[in-house]
Amino acid sequence: MKDRGAKGSSRSDVKLDELWTRALDRAERELGVNCVTQWIRPLRLRSIESDLAVLSASTGFLADWVERNYGLHLLRILQSLAPGLRRITLTVSEADFAPNMGERVAAATNGGHGEGHTPAAQFDYPENTPQTAPGNGYGPVPADEDLQSAPLDPRCTFESFVVGKPNELAHAAARRVAETADATFNPVFLYGGVGLGKTHLMHAIGWHLKRNRPKCKVLFLSAEHFMYRFVQALRFRDTMTFKRQFRSVDVLMIDDVQFIAGKDSTQEEFFHTFNALIDQKKQIVISGDRSPERIDGLEERICSRLQWGLVVDIHPTDYELRLGILQSKAETIAANNPSFEYDPKVLEFLAHRISSNVRVLEGALTRLFAFASLVGRRITLDMTQECLADLLRTADRKVTIDEIKRKVADHYNLRLSDLISARRARAVARPRQVAMFLAKSLTSKSLPEIGRGFGGRDHTTVIHAVRKVEQLRETDSQLADDIELLRRMLEG
Ligand code: ADP
Ligand code: MG
Repeated sequence: MKDRGAKGSSRSDVKLDELWTRALDRAERELGVNCVTQWIRPLRLRSIESDLAVLSASTGFLADWVERNYGLHLLRILQSLAPGLRRITLTVSEADFAPNMGERVAAATNGGHGEGHTPAAQFDYPENTPQTAPGNGYGPVPADEDLQSAPLDPRCTFESFVVGKPNELAHAAARRVAETADATFNPVFLYGGVGLGKTHLMHAIGWHLKRNRPKCKVLFLSAEHFMYRFVQALRFRDTMTFKRQFRSVDVLMIDDVQFIAGKDSTQEEFFHTFNALIDQKKQIVISGDRSPERIDGLEERICSRLQWGLVVDIHPTDYELRLGILQSKAETIAANNPSFEYDPKVLEFLAHRISSNVRVLEGALTRLFAFASLVGRRITLDMTQECLADLLRTADRKVTIDEIKRKVADHYNLRLSDLISARRARAVARPRQVAMFLAKSLTSKSLPEIGRGFGGRDHTTVIHAVRKVEQLRETDSQLADDIELLRRMLEG
């Protein structure tokens, strides 16, 4: 890191750069330019050693998102260029990006560009993409610059959203917000369990407005990012800019508001921003994982403000909706990959067997698709059962975070309270990381939820734990055995 740029690239860096460039080309062909510009290009390929490729991202958010949504796809692409590769991992490295971010800001202000091959170039998004880096990245937002929305996933539009009984109200509310400018319902609060389409609907609103009312200033952010921006503003003593930027938007969408519960000064600021916008009749859309009154630590006044508007919940999916979603996604895959063929019974089978969230359904389909393209055969029921055996087992047996904590504590002879304590001694910290890792791999809980299950830890701590355990597992066979044993006990 320290001498990169000063001495120029070493030979292996050049090789990596070349490989990465080719991977990006391929990704653009397969995933589309937009998607690659938004998600993949901002990454760096840091190393390829034996069967592991390490990519780094500027934020945990980006790393997590890419891993979840494009992990398998990226692995396949890299595999085709570097045979022998079997795994990829995404690390978060602010350090990798921070100086370049500075360069980019400098380049933007004096009209120049960073040198050709520095990572700064990777941040050189075309002007009109939804995310130019400074607004999303780590650093102060230049005062004359608008706050940038978080990137919108091109796949999350109204067209791709399958409507069924459980989500029809939420869908109608989102449509209404996107199609009319009168802010009749304000704020709109969407809530529901993980993976039921809240974020998808917000992205859909964003896309719709972008297309139909390009002048309308839309700001879409996770509550976590809102807080992050606020903390940055405090740190750089620039809360005026923060206020002005937030209050100048036409539509503000904040995702996963439960995240700021218990964060007092952020809530305070949120409340003021919120009121200022409502007073100006600017539309606000907020999502949360449960209804406002059930979010612990959410201030009473925010809670009641939220209830003034339209509160709609997304219910857990039913069989018909799941089948509809699977059909629509399978058709999309098949349209882009003519060789993807499947027995329609496979979809019915999955809709029956996987009843948790849509994300898990999508994951199953992605895996089937990867499998099918590897073996080059039509997907049958038998193949599905074989390929998704572990997933189907977990779908049958719902493992909870509490069970995981109990089993891990037993296994390592710890008290349950140790796992949620703040103690950092390795004898406690390592089992805690193992438990978080298991929670991530065996449950469909989100990172913030897992963090909360472990004494209110931050989701970045969970990401760190997961990565750490993944890493250690490769070299520490005792740890690998422990994990395998625990996994079997929990799933068995
Ligand atoms: P949430 O924000 O509620 O946790 P997301 O919006 O991230 O859930 O949805 C998880 C995944 O499932 C996304 O990839 C999304 O596109 C997909 N999804 C959820 N609901 C639907 C739906 N009704 N139609 C199509 N895709 C859906
Ligand atoms: Mg979401």
